Amino acid sequence: MLIIDDPQQLREKIKQLKQQGSEIAFVPTMGNLHEGHLTLVQAGQKKAAVVIVSIFVNPMQFNNAQDLLNYPKTVAQDCEKLAVAGVNIVFTPEASSIYPNGLNTQTYVEVPLLSNCLEGELRPGHFRGMSTIVNKLFNLVQPDYACFGEKDFQQLAIVKQMVSDLALPIEIIPVATKREKNGLAMSSRNSKLSGLEKQKAPFLAKVMNRIAIDLQAQKTELSILIDDASNDLNNAGFNTDAIHIVDAQTLQAVSCDSKEAVILMAAFLGETRLIDNKVVTLNPSKINI
Ligand code: AMP
Repeated sequence: MLIIDDPQQLREKIKQLKQQGSEIAFVPTMGNLHEGHLTLVQAGQKKAAVVIVSIFVNPMQFNNAQDLLNYPKTVAQDCEKLAVAGVNIVFTPEASSIYPNGLNTQTYVEVPLLSNCLEGELRPGHFRGMSTIVNKLFNLVQPDYACFGEKDFQQLAIVKQMVSDLALPIEIIPVATKREKNGLAMSSRNSKLSGLEKQKAPFLAKVMNRIAIDLQAQKTELSILIDDASNDLNNAGFNTDAIHIVDAQTLQAVSCDSKEAVILMAAFLGETRLIDNKVVTLNPSKINI
């Protein structure tokens, strides 16, 4: 496995691979890798002979300098996991080589509408930073395929829209959320949970699955489903941050035209913000908004 930190060196390697006719699958990450990330690698390996993973904690998508500083950096262990997984190249650039002129005058890519709702409303500029770095990494890696987790549902929707709007020649491969046996979605943040919080954490997915069943039955108003779920989480020791049920394609309010809804959950356990989501197929004739 090659570890490359210099964008120019990466470009030269990509040029060679393209000359050899190799297809490339790309997995962008911020490191601190777990089995969820490795399922993206496996999805990439099914598609292309060469898999490239990037590890880059992107300063442009953090609105809080302390969060950026606190983000766990475990590059050596990450590279060991990726080598065992059979990854071909890991790209680990420094922020100074990605943003040589700093962030203030950096050109950006913004996907309107999808970026400013839901999580985007809580974290202004976050998705602009994300779509800009993904675009930049796409330009460096020039992949044929790029794998993204459904765990970050809004991110995936934005990346798909960006690729379509900018006619990027890349097929986006969505990968199902990898979960612990107890249902908890795997996340780098889970390592920050205390012993007691770890026991409570799977309740988030349980509540989400219950909303999904009620949503499918389409007998209860969405606002009631959300309020009940929020109360149950708070009573169980969570601090509910946001629960949304929106159209899975547009991320806007569910309407009579909605074919699928997505339940988006965000709740704090102590200091740790956990997120999860689930898509539910709707019967348009029964929608109970
Ligand atoms: P991150 O390093 O957190 O930015 O995540 C990198 C990629 O891994 C994103 O596409 C995430 O959606 C994906 N990912 C994170 N957790 C999981 C999981 N539990 N299952 C599948 N993919 C995941």
